[in-house]
This record gives sequence, structure tokens and C-alpha cells, in this order.
Amino acid sequence: MKKKIAWICAGFMLLIGLFMCLVLIHSYRTQQNSHAQKAQAKIIVSGYVPYTLVRQLSGNTVSVEMILPPGAEPHSFEPTPGTLVALKQTNGFIYISDDLEPWALDLAKNAGENTRLLRLADSVEQTPDPHIWMRLENMPILAENITEFLKEICPQFAKNYTQNLNRFKSDIYRLQQDFATSLKHCRYRKVVHIGHLAFENLLIPYGLQLTTLSGTSHEGEHSVKKLIGLTRDIKRQGLKAIFTENMVSGRLAEVVARETDVTILPLYPIEHISKQDFENNVTYVELMRRNLDSLKRGLQCPAF
Ligand SMILES: [Zn+2]
Repeated sequence: MKKKIAWICAGFMLLIGLFMCLVLIHSYRTQQNSHAQKAQAKIIVSGYVPYTLVRQLSGNTVSVEMILPPGAEPHSFEPTPGTLVALKQTNGFIYISDDLEPWALDLAKNAGENTRLLRLADSVEQTPDPHIWMRLENMPILAENITEFLKEICPQFAKNYTQNLNRFKSDIYRLQQDFATSLKHCRYRKVVHIGHLAFENLLIPYGLQLTTLSGTSHEGEHSVKKLIGLTRDIKRQGLKAIFTENMVSGRLAEVVARETDVTILPLYPIEHISKQDFENNVTYVELMRRNLDSLKRGLQCPAF
């Protein structure tokens, strides 16, 4: 009987021992996770262009927050006071330019003492069209600047960042070659865009002409006179497609398309993003490839 009780006690003690081990392992893991979370640097960015670049170049070693919500218009956006508070506690803030995002300039002026700042437009040549990321040859330079910025904030990941940068640059060079080859011998060379002036930097290097409905921002009335002029131009040149973007009312494009019997194709300015593309983490290169596909179709370019 005594032996039986001794065995029961030993079993009981073993169970308690096992339970204590599990508790210790769980608490150790929770501690590690919370350390990792605390240690992860945080970067706030103005919109989707720096957002997707930081995500890709950092390989998710930092947490990235985008101020401009998916679906919002970047040129006339107004941030909330909460954004300013968040900026004071962040490791870095990246935006494109003062002209393009005047609201970001105000935020940068009031950022925290320890918040590093990066204004991407400072490193590339300025053109009348402020959408600098649309010029493919700017992309390696912008990516290099973001990589240096990341290395300053998280030097422990410097090697990974260099590898990510090299991969990104290879993708861009391939993209440049594909744009040059695909757009060389198209039947049409005129792009009529029922949107704002965001694609000049993309199209001009490939010898394409661009006509847009509005200027460099989405604001302003779309005059009937301008619409009639565009419609006449499309008919006179015998174009087969017009291009639009998700921030501009699709109805305007439909009116023009019905009048001229052309197809409507999308172009992606990347500075703003649909909720679905945001959730799917669509990359810069993927969006540019969509742009190339639309242009090839709409301008009737030979397939390679
Ligand atoms: Zn724009």
C-alpha cells in the first residue's frame, strides 16, 4: 500500500514539474516576443510609393505605417492631429516632396527630435510633372536613398538591405528594357488620359505623347470644352483606347468612350492605391507591369 502511495506521489510530482516547465517556456516566449516587438523600428510614410518601397527594401524588418489611407487622394489630403503625435514617437518619416504633399511638409517640420527625415525628391532631377517615381530611371536612386536611411535606423540588418536593394534594381532594369522594347513600334503613339497629369515622366522617355483631362492634381472642374476637344482629338487620330485612373470618376471616361467608340484601360499612378491592392501588398513593379500591359493593348504594340 505504501509503495502504491509513493508511486502516486511521484506521478503527481512529475505532473507538477511538467506543468511548471510549460509555464516557464510560455513566459519565456512571451518575453522574447515583447522584446522583439519593442525592438522593431517604426517608420511612417506619406503614401503608397514610399510604403511599398520600404516594405520591399526592408524585408519587413521594420514596421511601416502609411498616413494616406487606401483610396484617398494625396495632393489635397489633410492629416489628423493623431498623425502628428505618432510622428513624434517614430524612428523615421519618409515623404516624396513639398510640392506634391504640402501636408507632409507641415508634418516633417513638427516631427520628433529623434525622428529621421527623408524627402525622396531631393535626390533626383526635378521635372514639371512632380510624379518622380513614374520615371523608371529615378527608381534605383530612390531605392538607394531608402536603403541608406534604413541602414542608419537598423544597422544590424545592413547586409539584408543591400541584398534587397540589388534584387529591386535588377527588377527595375528588366522593367526598363521591357518598356523600351514593347513601346518602340506601337501603331499609336498618343495617350489620352481621362485623369490628372501623373504619367508624363513615364511616357515621354519612350517617345509617347500625353494629353490629360486635368493638371497635376485631381482638383478643378473638368470643363465641357476640354472634354469636347479630347473627343475630337480621339476621333481625328483614330485612337482605339483611352486611359483612366481610379481617382477620377469612371463616368467621364464612359462618356468619352461612348462618343468615340474606344476601349477604356486603366493606368496606375501608384501614389494612391485601392483597398484591395493595398491588402494584397501589390508592389511597385507589379503596378508598373500593369501599366505596360494597358499601354501595349491600347496603343496596339507588337507582342514580344
Ligand atoms: Zn498625382
